[in-house]
Amino acid sequence: KKITIAIDGFSSCGKSTMAKDLAREIGYIYIDSGAMYRAVTLYSIENGIFTGTAIDTETLKQRINDIQISFQLNPATGRPDTYLNGVNVEDKIRSMEVSNKVSPISTLGFVRQEMVKQQQAMGERKGIVMDGRDIGTTVFPDAELKVFVTASAEIRAQRRYDELKAKGQEASYEEILANVKQRDDIDQNREVSPLRKAEDALLLDNSHLTIEEQRDWLREKFQS
Ligand code: C5P
Repeated sequence: KKITIAIDGFSSCGKSTMAKDLAREIGYIYIDSGAMYRAVTLYSIENGIFTGTAIDTETLKQRINDIQISFQLNPATGRPDTYLNGVNVEDKIRSMEVSNKVSPISTLGFVRQEMVKQQQAMGERKGIVMDGRDIGTTVFPDAELKVFVTASAEIRAQRRYDELKAKGQEASYEEILANVKQRDDIDQNREVSPLRKAEDALLLDNSHLTIEEQRDWLREKFQS
């Protein structure tokens, strides 16, 4: 019998890598909820809704239903790419600009409401692994397996730095560390579904685990 798996945690803690790998291994659908908030952020930047530090919330509220987000498997990587209104935005949503602006967008109640609605619709079919910040607490409070992932901010910043570098995107370690800490702070302190561990979630501190060790840990929890 297929179940729902919720993986939450801090920015750049490696939760999406482990969620994607597990989903592929067990034949489940993987959904990156952070990519959805990133796509709304990209839309806001590209449409003049988010300029400098100001968000035109009235316009975004009016347009929120026109923002269609979907995922399609990329055969080259074996992983899903994010589409915004039919356009592949997978690379664009990972830029530093989007990373710097996504947390303020994620504090908006009407944005969260719409995303949660779309995420719950995607989860109606069992057999999904979804990662994010509020999956075990708000999106799927009844998920059969919940994991909450943590690692030190410095380790997460280093991983993010390595990942961007591998993709040929340059950013300084200091800038990334500042971004990671700022997102942690906004995510934990926002009013609507702040980032926190669900009571029944298993805690995984992966500061000193390799990707393989994390994968084994998660597989074992899934099997038991
Ligand atoms: O997971 P990722 O780091 O790509 O998420 C980007 C941002 O989107 C997070 O820093 C957080 O502000 C927001 N987010 C959220 N709720 C989720 C997933 C992501 O608020 N379920």
